[in-house]
Amino acid sequence: AVPHADEAVIEALTQRVLAGESLPRERVHGFTDLAAYRAGGGYRLATAVVQGAYDPETLIQTLEHAGLRGLGGAGFPAGRKWRIVRGFAAPRLMAVNIDEGEPGTFKDRHYLERDPHRFLEGVLIAASVVGIHKVYIYLRDEYHDCRALLQEQIAALQADPPCPLPAIELRRGAGAYICGEESAMIESIEGKRGEPRLRPPYIAEVGLFGRPTLEHNFETLYWVREIVERGADWFASHGRHGRKGLRSFSVSGRVREPGVKLAPAGITLSELIDEYCGGMAEGHTLYAYLPGGASGGILPAHMADIPLDFDTLQAHGCFIGSAAVMVLSQHDRARDAALNVMRFFKDESCGQCTPCRVGTDKAARLMEAAVWDQDTLRDLGDVMGDASICGLGQAAPNPIRSVLKHFAHEVGGAA
Ligand code: SF4
Repeated sequence: AVPHADEAVIEALTQRVLAGESLPRERVHGFTDLAAYRAGGGYRLATAVVQGAYDPETLIQTLEHAGLRGLGGAGFPAGRKWRIVRGFAAPRLMAVNIDEGEPGTFKDRHYLERDPHRFLEGVLIAASVVGIHKVYIYLRDEYHDCRALLQEQIAALQADPPCPLPAIELRRGAGAYICGEESAMIESIEGKRGEPRLRPPYIAEVGLFGRPTLEHNFETLYWVREIVERGADWFASHGRHGRKGLRSFSVSGRVREPGVKLAPAGITLSELIDEYCGGMAEGHTLYAYLPGGASGGILPAHMADIPLDFDTLQAHGCFIGSAAVMVLSQHDRARDAALNVMRFFKDESCGQCTPCRVGTDKAARLMEAAVWDQDTLRDLGDVMGDASICGLGQAAPNPIRSVLKHFAHEVGGAA
């Protein structure tokens, strides 16, 4: 049989590596380096902001009017965050989260591999407006090429700075999903075990090394230049079904063209698949979907016409998180996806609190049964949701609840 094109490429690369060849780093098509970014007007805005040409409060209001919210998953309004951190006494620090560990999420890497300076300009603007002393960028360990790329591009920027730069330190994660949680990431940057902190105090006030800390996801900063240059109305003018803005969906699963899709906020799954993914893959019909990675729950096909946004999904017991959309077909079962997710949570629980450490393990074992012990799983889910310290344990019961609500026929319940 003739291998699939991708398999042939992978096989050829594998043979080269096995033969001891060191493969050259290849940039993705359309990669924008520092010179190209500057040629396109890059860093003019950051320079103007650093030189005081913009009123900080006006910039904050621009982000607020645009409706830019944290794009790592929590969805906290970016402008409000800048204002809060700015209100605390200096020195203030900044922590940028590029841990991107949520299953199915690859949007940060997509943009980082193509246009790293757009992100770095967002960092400089945020640092100037909020008055940041030092910036820590926390990059997941698995992104080897991104690390090399970012090191190289930060060094190029520091060698020829367009304006005074804050200190920037690039930190490597160590492969723990929990370090995508902001306070665990901060512990990790401080050199400790990546365990989430109890809040309050919130990290905006007591964050890195006890200092007020502005924490942002990569993509939130990526959009700052565009929003300020084009105006809040430009960003807010996108959106469907009454929602405002743009969202980068990481789409995977049974669609014809998976990938990162920049689409209007509030788009429905049906619209996303039909208009951005070329429809369902050959031989597959929509059965279910995960709207927000591992933590966001599972919805059935008949709910493919609800807006994929923070508030709508929350009303259905799900959440969009980092907008990682995984599409399942008639060849999949929601219970398999739910079990897979629960095993993932069990492996990634930091073990700090009992409901999560013991609950995820027990739930995963109960979910292996052909017929689920629904009462016990419900109880377990309630305890995990109520008594876990952080979002991992609190969200871990979501897949159980989704299956019991929408796919009970798969686990011995009513059809
Ligand atoms: Fe750790 Fe889980 Fe507790 Fe979060 S909920 S602190 S991951 S044990």
